[in-house]
Amino acid sequence: MSKFCASCGEELKPDVKFCENCGALVEEKTKTTVAVEQVNNVQYEKHANQMAVIGFVMSIINLPVTFFTCCGAPIVGIPAIILCIIGLVRSKNYAGDGKGLAIAGIAISAVLILIFIVFIAFIEAIRPAFG
Ligand SMILES: [Zn+2]
Repeated sequence: MSKFCASCGEELKPDVKFCENCGALVEEKTKTTVAVEQVNNVQYEKHANQMAVIGFVMSIINLPVTFFTCCGAPIVGIPAIILCIIGLVRSKNYAGDGKGLAIAGIAISAVLILIFIVFIAFIEAIRPAFG
């Protein structure tokens, strides 16, 4: 792979320190620079997957919330689904990372909200018997 001068665009011979055309210093990426770039990339990918992770965690939290309060199912579940959908959309840009979590989160929250709807319908159905 040939290199080119950053100043004038002249093709550079391997292992030269200065451009033969304009004399500009040939800047080579140091190991430290490359390492920092790699760390930044990893952090960016993690940041991109946070939506899926937070959405999934919220869906898991929604299990006891739904069990103990019932009405908490949509309160926690709807934001969880929204976060998971954002995570799912973003996962396409990051080699599918976080996709499984996002789908699992959507599935869990959808089931919990469905349980909530069925429970409310059931309460409404039996209420006249106590009214
Ligand atoms: Zn040059």
